[in-house]
Amino acid sequence: MSAAASLSTEDTLNIMRRHGSAHYPLSPVVFTHALGVWLMDSEGRKYIDAASGYGSVGLGHNHPKVCKVITEMNTVTDTWGPVCVVPNVHATPQLADFLSLVPKHFGYEKTLVTNGGVEAVEAAIKLMRKRAYTKLGIPKGKAQIVVCDGNFHGRTTTVVGFSSESAYKDPFAPFPKDAFITIPFNSIDDLRTVLAADAARGRRIAGVLLEPVQGERGVRIPGIHYLREVAHVCKMHNIVFCADEIQTGLGRTGKLLASWTWGVKPDMVIIGKTLGGGKQAVAAVMGNNDVMIFEPGEHGSTYGGNPQSMAIASAALRIIKEERLCEKSTRRGADLLNQLRTTLSSGSIPSLIKEIRGIGLMIGIELTPRVDPKVVISCLLKHGVMTKDAHGVIRITPPLVITEQDIGELVRSIGSAFVELSQTFGVTRP
Ligand code: PLP
Repeated sequence: MSAAASLSTEDTLNIMRRHGSAHYPLSPVVFTHALGVWLMDSEGRKYIDAASGYGSVGLGHNHPKVCKVITEMNTVTDTWGPVCVVPNVHATPQLADFLSLVPKHFGYEKTLVTNGGVEAVEAAIKLMRKRAYTKLGIPKGKAQIVVCDGNFHGRTTTVVGFSSESAYKDPFAPFPKDAFITIPFNSIDDLRTVLAADAARGRRIAGVLLEPVQGERGVRIPGIHYLREVAHVCKMHNIVFCADEIQTGLGRTGKLLASWTWGVKPDMVIIGKTLGGGKQAVAAVMGNNDVMIFEPGEHGSTYGGNPQSMAIASAALRIIKEERLCEKSTRRGADLLNQLRTTLSSGSIPSLIKEIRGIGLMIGIELTPRVDPKVVISCLLKHGVMTKDAHGVIRITPPLVITEQDIGELVRSIGSAFVELSQTFGVTRP
């Protein structure tokens, strides 16, 4: 037994409390095992994983094909094993295989692979700025990027600097002034207005960075014309439209990219989460030659694009295709949404809920303001559902491999939790 496996629940939690950096509130549950859509805790209780590791377990836990790839990448026969991390000046077959999949799957010429989502966002920001200086004639050091209110793009100091969430931002000031312009999400008029002002004063704007559906903000889905208009306006002004699809991409919203739902091909797209097969942090920035303009020495990372992560990422893309996970996400997502709407419309439960909305398997149950989301999350956990609150919206994002039967079980568990919650919050069935 490994040292970690021999730790008791109490010891695990105590070590976390004493030695963890406390940047997340600590849940009392210690998860030890997982398979498909299921998690098991240290006491042997089972939970449906409706959070999917913040959306990163799209393929389900321990997908057999991902596990096989990892085994292959870690099998040493006689004296040799597969190539491990090498300086990035050297090509590896695993990286080349992944790079060759991107044009086929997404239609982009070039890809930069990173170790995680926010690192890819940072790279995209650099690329947009460089293009502004080299192709748009914007004075060096003056480029600005338009972002949306309610955004979530990660936690580096640059990125939290344009977060609308004071807890993510305020303790970590200072931030560069004027590097980002924040406009309301889902308002094309506001984008047109800032671009018109930019043209009038002398151009500074390099691009627009947004999430097609705002996940962290509580599953905010834009109007049907919004993304197409954003793409059109960016094209008119010759600026980059960069979609952060770290959360929404790879089938989560029913398409390989959520942007495709609205018939849009952004100039640059960032993917992550499920790309790591639920096993390893991997993200990527994709675009055509016009925007992917790094030259040697301008960017780098030690582990970015390492053979094991690339073998997993390629497997993840192939699994999504082979198992038709986008189609499943659309179909199962619609089922789940309908069943939740029906189940949560009975008795006095509707008094706790403002709206239930979703796209694919990205579903949000928006609570009424009097309901404390923390109480809801812990009640759901008690009823065997592990999920997450996003600004008063309970986010239901199960693995894309969820079956009809699992959906039935998930809906029943959420339903019984909400019956209990309607009593907790002082409203009983008539
Ligand atoms: N962008 C979006 C839309 C996200 O949802 C996240 C993470 O939740 C990130 C960026 C940051 O990704 P990571 O946590 O891998 O750095």
